Amino acid sequence: MKKVIVVGGGWAGCAAAISARKAGAEVTVLERMDMLLGTGLVGGIMRNNGRYTAAEEIIAMGCGDLFEICDKSSRHINIEFPGHKHANLYDVGKTPGQVMRHLLKLGIKVVFNMRVSKIATDNGRILSVEDSRGNIYEGDVFVDATGTAGPIKNCTKYGNGCAMCILRCPSFGGRVSLTGLAGIEESMGGKADGSIGAMSGSCKLYKESLSEEIQKELKEKGVAVIPLPKDLIEDHLDAKACQQYALPQFRDNIILLDTGHAKLMTPYYNLETLRKIPGFEDARFEDPYAGGKGNSMRYFAMAPRDNYLKVEGAENLFCCGEKAGLLVGHTEAIVTGTLAGHNSVRYALGKELITIPEGLATGDAISYVKEEMSKPEGMTKKYTFSGSVYFERMKDLNLYSIDSAEIWKRVEEYGMKNIFARAIEK
Ligand SMILES: Cc1cc2nc3c(=O)[nH]c(=O)nc-3n(C[C@H](O)[C@H](O)[C@H](O)COP(=O)(O)OP(=O)(O)OC[C@H]3O[C@@H](n4cnc5c(N)ncnc54)[C@H](O)[C@@H]3O)c2cc1C
Repeated sequence: MKKVIVVGGGWAGCAAAISARKAGAEVTVLERMDMLLGTGLVGGIMRNNGRYTAAEEIIAMGCGDLFEICDKSSRHINIEFPGHKHANLYDVGKTPGQVMRHLLKLGIKVVFNMRVSKIATDNGRILSVEDSRGNIYEGDVFVDATGTAGPIKNCTKYGNGCAMCILRCPSFGGRVSLTGLAGIEESMGGKADGSIGAMSGSCKLYKESLSEEIQKELKEKGVAVIPLPKDLIEDHLDAKACQQYALPQFRDNIILLDTGHAKLMTPYYNLETLRKIPGFEDARFEDPYAGGKGNSMRYFAMAPRDNYLKVEGAENLFCCGEKAGLLVGHTEAIVTGTLAGHNSVRYALGKELITIPEGLATGDAISYVKEEMSKPEGMTKKYTFSGSVYFERMKDLNLYSIDSAEIWKRVEEYGMKNIFARAIEK
């Protein structure tokens, strides 16, 4: 059996592990922290706008395990908030454990506290990866799912310092890129004003620190929209990685979503100002801890890749999630992870690699983002099925649908039905 080593246990790494396992490999996930899901530990929004279509496509292609887990662990389903329809909100507390148990059930090995910081190569091929304690893992093929957030020096240089986010760099050590260790030059994303990186678009309040009325509204509806008095408005729209939430409604209102915490849809908010709003008198941040001042910064290290998600210039290395480019989101990470994991096994077996056809939203997004990233202007944007430029494109190309039967039919017409569910024949 071929050995696939996935470095990084965020949504992308978990998806890559599942598809590689289904394709017939022995799979190990190496994660620097002590929990799976990476930035997904504080996210939660699924199936909003075009993400519905993308999720259904991957389910129809036979690798929808993670979407099904999120659907089942959703605190709220089919909710609306400004600019976003038919969203599900997974429970950020319970979902990581459910994903972990599913990976173990499939026979995937997960190693925590394993921060890859060295590699051994031979003629451009990666032979093994190693952490700072000398633990070594050998493999036939490797998947870089290390994301683009951190380390602290990036948050300090391009943001407001370490805001103490869920990634916990001071304790577990910052992100280290496998692609970078392989000597491949990576690219950095930027904002429209030319500055580098992008700040996470939401932070979390401790729900119980809010008034009973707000808690009740969140419990019943999943969403609370609280108009802001003019003098309390803070404008952080341009800093956001998630441009689908860079709408005026997100500046003029406090928008809260119930993911277990109260997800506040702005990168940060001055705590003294926030506490002046009725119902927020005792508010405190849950993630990042210094959410009154800043948030984590991302998009510092993206790998050059083709549409098979093989890293260009490397031999046996694939990439996915934010590492594979400016596609933002859990759904997006699961889509690229699924393809990267599958192709890693094809590569190890000497089989032809596959792309997802461009007539499907998931395939179009992978190739469109690569093309856009070759232009300087394209590097200042972010792409997601859930809004902004890419959702507009989905609608223009008639790729957006919430009719599951129609989506499944399309997948079948392209010969992709259950493609990721089957073991690859030797
Ligand atoms: C605060 C916040 C809120 C968000 N909310 C949402 C949301 O509601 N909905 C949505 O769709 N998207 C949301 N996003 C975006 C989404 O989380 C990401 O785009 C996506 O999940 C990225 O997944 P990833 O697996 O590529 O990277 P990451 O989540 O960054 O995972 C990378 C993993 O690799 C590990 N790692 C790094 N280096 C090493 C190494 N050398 N060795 C071993 N492990 C390593 C890290 O510890 C991490 O677990 C949010 C992001 C943030 C930060």
